[in-house]
Amino acid sequence: MSLPDPLPASHDWPEMLPGWVWLAGAGPGDPGLLTLHALNGLRQADVVVYDALVDDRVLDFANPAAERVFAGKRGGKPSAKQRDISLRLVEMARAGQRVLRLKGGDPFLFGRGGEEAQTLVQHGVPIRIIPGITAGIGGLAYAGIPATHRDVNQSVTFITGHDARGEAPAAIDWAAIARGSQVVVVYMGLRTLGELATRFIAAGRSAEEPVAVVTDATLPAQRVLETTLARAAEDVAAAGMVPPALIVIGRAALLRRALAWWQGEGPTDLDPLGRGRPAEEP
Ligand code: SAH
Repeated sequence: MSLPDPLPASHDWPEMLPGWVWLAGAGPGDPGLLTLHALNGLRQADVVVYDALVDDRVLDFANPAAERVFAGKRGGKPSAKQRDISLRLVEMARAGQRVLRLKGGDPFLFGRGGEEAQTLVQHGVPIRIIPGITAGIGGLAYAGIPATHRDVNQSVTFITGHDARGEAPAAIDWAAIARGSQVVVVYMGLRTLGELATRFIAAGRSAEEPVAVVTDATLPAQRVLETTLARAAEDVAAAGMVPPALIVIGRAALLRRALAWWQGEGPTDLDPLGRGRPAEEP
């Protein structure tokens, strides 16, 4: 594909100045989900420092002369240490480079963007933050799952399935979430899914509660599995699903039966919540 059209001239696009770091979200994968500010940064940066979940097609929007630095983990290799990455950004900025730090999804949601930004600020590096479409909302939309829906939930909880030790986070009050969160969206939860389901069921959620698992959301390889809390871990293993994956727990998962649209999918059930009357009709 040829280079994209220039950014709309009607807006006063910020100039990326030497010595600055722009910390941007790249969205869940589909390059069309980049923001215009991220695109503006990609065009101006001298160096683009990107994570494993940033799609190669997104990097194609960068200035061809820009240096590309990979700062994630791939193929099971140990990840670059978080603090080392942040300090490298500081060095680049101090050397007068225009740095775009590009992270998957939204930089401030389970992306350690807050920590990185803090280190930059502590070292006197000026920053700009560019939010992105988070996988837990945009990725689910590509699976036909709305994060909220009036017939389903008035709240949604985002949790991470593992902590720094790679285990189900001990700091989470499972009983409180099971009681109070109508829909739960789990990031990084594929490996601990069995444990997570057990805790939810022990805390009072139905074993039959609908669950959807979405891998490679928004990408051509996107896969969606519909299952239940009790069966989820087993079904995921049987389907051979691998990260990155989002897990949705709650009746929102059913809505994809009506709203699946990506890659030619279509509805299989026009009334997946069993309302018995048209949507929006009171
Ligand atoms: N900052 C990111 C999340 C980073 S944590 C965001 O806002 O989306 C990494 C986790 O995000 C993955 O383990 C997975 O749970 C989720 N994720 C990111 N991109 C995804 C995708 N395309 N498909 C499915 N899950 C994705």
